[in-house]
Amino acid sequence: MRVAGKEFAQQFCGTGSKADIAYLQRMRSALHEVIREQADPGADLGSLIGGAILTPEVTPGGIRWELQAPAVERLAVRAAMAWSEVMKEMPGRLRPCANTECNLFLIDHSRPGSAKWCSISTARGVQANGNWR
Ligand SMILES: [Zn+2]
Repeated sequence: MRVAGKEFAQQFCGTGSKADIAYLQRMRSALHEVIREQADPGADLGSLIGGAILTPEVTPGGIRWELQAPAVERLAVRAAMAWSEVMKEMPGRLRPCANTECNLFLIDHSRPGSAKWCSISTARGVQANGNWR
């Protein structure tokens, strides 16, 4: 199930180079810290996306924002933009999995907003109870 860093980067339009992956890993830990509220979002995250510029392109369908960033940073910046989009569209719905042995995050789509575990932890719990279908 786990995809190696290089494959992952290539799948999402990164080059998959060592530098690419190193930058992605720095972005990942910066985002982890922010989501887990262990860091001020302005610190690491700010310096990691500091080189990015969005330039507008006017099309008949509206304005398209083109990301200008050094090739090595582009994929990581996109990840940060995706995080930001989720924060804006679904405030408070992105959270770390409540399973202390789990390092994953979940986006809570439940109506009451009370989801605590990622799908993997939930699946394991069901499996442990013998109710796995
Ligand atoms: Zn989990």
